[in-house]
Amino acid sequence: MPFLNPDQIQEFYLDYIKKLQVVKEKLHRPLTYAEKILFTHFAKAEFTVQRSKSSIPLQVDRVAMQDATAQMAILQFMLTGKRSVAVPTTVHCDHLITAKVGATKDLEEANIQNKEVYQFLKSSANKYGLGFWKPGSGIIHQVILENYAVPGQLMIGTDSHTPNAGGLGMVAIGAGGAEAMDAMAGLSWTVTMPKLIGIQLKGTLNGWTSPKDVILKVAEILTVKGGTGCIIEYFGEGARTISATGKATITNMGAEVGATTSLFPYDQHTAAYLQATQRDFVAKAADSVKEELQADPEVEQNPLRFFDDVIIIDLDQLEPQIVGPHTPDLSRSLSALKDDVHKNHWPVQLSAALIGSCTNSSYEDMSRAAAVARKAAAQGLKAKVPFMVTPGSQQIFATMKRDGLLDVFEKIGGVVLANACGPCIGQWNRQDVPKGVRNSIITSYNRNFKKRNDNNAETHAFISSPEIVTAFALAGRLDFNPILDTIDGVKLEISAVDQLPSQGFVFDLSGYEEPTGRGEVIVDQHSERLALLQPFAPWKEKDFSELWLLVKAKGKCTTDHISPAGKWLEYRGHLDRISDNMFSGAVNAFSDQIGEGKNLLTGTEEGFSSIARAYQKNDKGWIAVGDVNYGEGSSREHAAMEPRYLGCRAVLAKSFARIAETNLKKQGILPLWFNVESDYDKILEADIIDIDSDAKVNELVYVTLTHADGAVEVIQTKHTFSAEQLEWFKYGSALNWLRERSS
Ligand code: SF4
Repeated sequence: MPFLNPDQIQEFYLDYIKKLQVVKEKLHRPLTYAEKILFTHFAKAEFTVQRSKSSIPLQVDRVAMQDATAQMAILQFMLTGKRSVAVPTTVHCDHLITAKVGATKDLEEANIQNKEVYQFLKSSANKYGLGFWKPGSGIIHQVILENYAVPGQLMIGTDSHTPNAGGLGMVAIGAGGAEAMDAMAGLSWTVTMPKLIGIQLKGTLNGWTSPKDVILKVAEILTVKGGTGCIIEYFGEGARTISATGKATITNMGAEVGATTSLFPYDQHTAAYLQATQRDFVAKAADSVKEELQADPEVEQNPLRFFDDVIIIDLDQLEPQIVGPHTPDLSRSLSALKDDVHKNHWPVQLSAALIGSCTNSSYEDMSRAAAVARKAAAQGLKAKVPFMVTPGSQQIFATMKRDGLLDVFEKIGGVVLANACGPCIGQWNRQDVPKGVRNSIITSYNRNFKKRNDNNAETHAFISSPEIVTAFALAGRLDFNPILDTIDGVKLEISAVDQLPSQGFVFDLSGYEEPTGRGEVIVDQHSERLALLQPFAPWKEKDFSELWLLVKAKGKCTTDHISPAGKWLEYRGHLDRISDNMFSGAVNAFSDQIGEGKNLLTGTEEGFSSIARAYQKNDKGWIAVGDVNYGEGSSREHAAMEPRYLGCRAVLAKSFARIAETNLKKQGILPLWFNVESDYDKILEADIIDIDSDAKVNELVYVTLTHADGAVEVIQTKHTFSAEQLEWFKYGSALNWLRERSS
């Protein structure tokens, strides 16, 4: 059963071409593929934009959410008063399943542990028209690739590896829950026009080298920050030799260099994958406009004219790469690993090897890994360390089973885990290596920072392709090179495999539930993990007088300082419960204490959230003060919702991270910039603060400080509210404003 409607796809491409003609008439220049997709999704017909400066409002075609982040997005959506989502949206239960013994038992356990969360997601998806993918049906990005990705479309997803769909020629960007909520409510989604990095691929992958090695090489070149604020667009002869799923592996891990997203042009491999996954009508429609589903020819001829930066990678020369430990940009070729391991005294004996995840669980990936395992098994070899296999979806699992790939992995001692994130997101109930014990593991996943897989800071995680990881599982040692070395006298081999199953995929949609648009949302009244939201009250003028200072943060105050993750992940759907972590990582500018300040009601030192609750109980409004780039880091909306929930009126800072500032505005908090940065120093611990809340576009806002000694100072602050955003503020939040407009 295809999930896309052929008529709508036809209509999409007609519209795409029509819009592109308008863009080309206005700009009179060749376009990259990323520009074509972005410009055809502009919510306003204004194309004179500056990269990394202009904000661009975009109309998105699709929203995808995973179970951990969907909770708050849906809770907020419920407050809009909308009856159903305005754009196609799906929810995928993949992040909350703990891997322990194997697929069947682990899934049973997850269904008990997360019952209330799944019940909520399922019932709300049903009511508001979201497609619901049950636990065990697959990992969000693999399911999107198999069923929903469309070349030329724009998707946002509440997960950082959403760019996986860029392998199929879609601009797919990771975003916060509040942004997803906007799109679901039919609002445009605003982003800063990214810079463009072009990566030209030459030659052809061969032997043990695979698409994973391309992105690991890119990570080495760009480092973990090099793609920030950029779209990476691949092009060239080499790009056209890589399978669609191989391209998805490369775009998936673009997140590891900080890229906004990564993108490949449409080609014959994209078409073949679409045809194999019941989307032949998409391939047909895309074929008819294929010249526009790639960069204009002039771009490939002279890339330096059109991209901000160009990198060339020769696939003929590329060796298999291994990255790690602890960061994906610590790369070296396979042949250099042995020396690195000994020089750095990393644990040589491996303790586990894991393949799969959303990054590397395509049929081609699994077939290549199985090819290595099959020949090894025929020679009597078995994995020397625990070897775990995570299929990306039920479709992949069922196809692997039919084609005997699971048998092959089991023959060498592999354990098949649920079709879910599991050890890739730390959901690994690891019994064999106690916390604090130094050990090395190797995976085909995408992230390897400390504690990512098993919550053990002493685990050294290395990343490579599934076939290399399988070879290492058989060797059990990190100083092994399958190209040169033997295991018990046996030389491993890699052989060519089918990119797509010759008998076709086994389609198993038993994990999908189509929404009916009826029914009620189920939230357990006693739940500690979920609670329905109440709208924030609109502001009154007096709400901005006689405010107290809750926190003056010194140095970095990222979203992790404002609302840390870790154990708090569990409470993402419960605003009151998670608000207990508010500012628990912030450094107090007066005392250097972390997460604590003086309660002016009692004079005692307490946690900031506890002080805020006391002020709120006593009807005292409060402000927070930040340093430079307040709220940088993840786009977590909790960092704005929690302060609003506990009575914050304004945040004054030297500067704000863009998403954090927008999130504050959305929740009805005033983000104010010191007009003179050194005024930060004038804010004292016991100040009484009055804010002129009658803010107007492009006008200063005056803030009066009455110090404890009676001295009064007036400081100037500025803001970036647009006229529409000021309306949000007047209504108390963007949601209140939206609800008013929908009624
Ligand atoms: S498999 Fe890993 S990278 Fe992929 S969505 Fe899950 S946690 Fe994220």
